[in-house]
Amino acid sequence: MIDAASKALFHALAQVNTLRRLASRFGMRPGGFARRFIAGETVGEAIEAVADLPGQGLRLTLDYLGESVASFDEARAAADEYVRIIHAIVRSGIERNVSLKLTQLGLDVDHATAVDNMRTILEPADAHGFFVRIDMENSPYTDRTLQVLDTLWQQGHRSIGTVIQSCLIRSPRDVQRLNDMGVRVRLVKGAYKEPAHVAFRDKAQVDAAFIELMYELLDHGTFPAIATHDPAMIRETQRYAQKKGYGKDRFEFQMLYGIRRDLQASLVAEGYGVRVYVPFGQQWFPYFMRRLGERPANVAFVLRGIFGER
Ligand SMILES: Cc1cc2nc3c(=O)[nH]c(=O)nc-3n(C[C@H](O)[C@H](O)[C@H](O)COP(=O)(O)OP(=O)(O)OC[C@H]3O[C@@H](n4cnc5c(N)ncnc54)[C@H](O)[C@@H]3O)c2cc1C
Repeated sequence: MIDAASKALFHALAQVNTLRRLASRFGMRPGGFARRFIAGETVGEAIEAVADLPGQGLRLTLDYLGESVASFDEARAAADEYVRIIHAIVRSGIERNVSLKLTQLGLDVDHATAVDNMRTILEPADAHGFFVRIDMENSPYTDRTLQVLDTLWQQGHRSIGTVIQSCLIRSPRDVQRLNDMGVRVRLVKGAYKEPAHVAFRDKAQVDAAFIELMYELLDHGTFPAIATHDPAMIRETQRYAQKKGYGKDRFEFQMLYGIRRDLQASLVAEGYGVRVYVPFGQQWFPYFMRRLGERPANVAFVLRGIFGER
């Protein structure tokens, strides 16, 4: 099972500081290997990097990279940075849509810190008509992430959504509840190494669960986002929507910046909505290593980036 093994390997490598320092030296220099997946180190670079995408019919969500902050002050600083990013996006005129991680905003401190920091971000976000997606991190955070969403939803915030991972055994229950609430869900397979008692480890099971959840979201969800680069998952979504007579505006596809740009373009050409998840920032190493874990073949690309074509 290449998937679980490669995720485990790259998860472990992501903890190696020497590797992080080495990658930081080469990765984001002009033309650096990480720029395939990461749009820049500043919001200005990211906005410049995505300038052409709307012209290609692509939608956007910007993600300021960062996770697992331990202190109240660091979490507060991340929330303040997101407020600056929201104002920069408003000034730039690009689409008003961001994604974020709650461990960047204090979920490891406590629930109240994460909620307060989210409210700090949602104040300008709501005022300027943004949509804010709460990404889903590894399974120890699933309940706590959904509890923060519940609290914000009870406080009347509606321009928020979250993510469900098909690899988790609990996901059908979570999708049911979020559909009943009317929360917008992004469906993904799951990027993290997970223990066998909470997650499917076999790719075929993860894919089968993805399809079942996609059916449920297309039938009962609120503008679901089907986020995958897997042609088989995309084809089945198209087939099911056509069979049910659902219009192309009932859902959208989502993909990661720099991955399967051919598929992004062909779906747009067929009239589907496609949103590109655009990560940026200096804390890019963990995200980058997850991308390598998903497709170890990317390592060859990285080595060429470091040692050049031979
Ligand atoms: C918009 C978006 C948001 C996401 N948000 C989250 C989140 O909040 N939480 C979370 O756990 N996960 C998230 N993910 C990651 C997701 O869980 C998967 O790990 C990732 O999408 C790879 O799975 P896949 O569905 O593309 O299928 P796979 O079965 O992994 O891949 C199918 C095919 O897609 C291509 N492909 C997939 N990954 C790569 C790659 N890294 N490089 C090059 N080609 C690739 C390959 O051709 C591969 O054969 C997100 C993914 C997307 C697209």
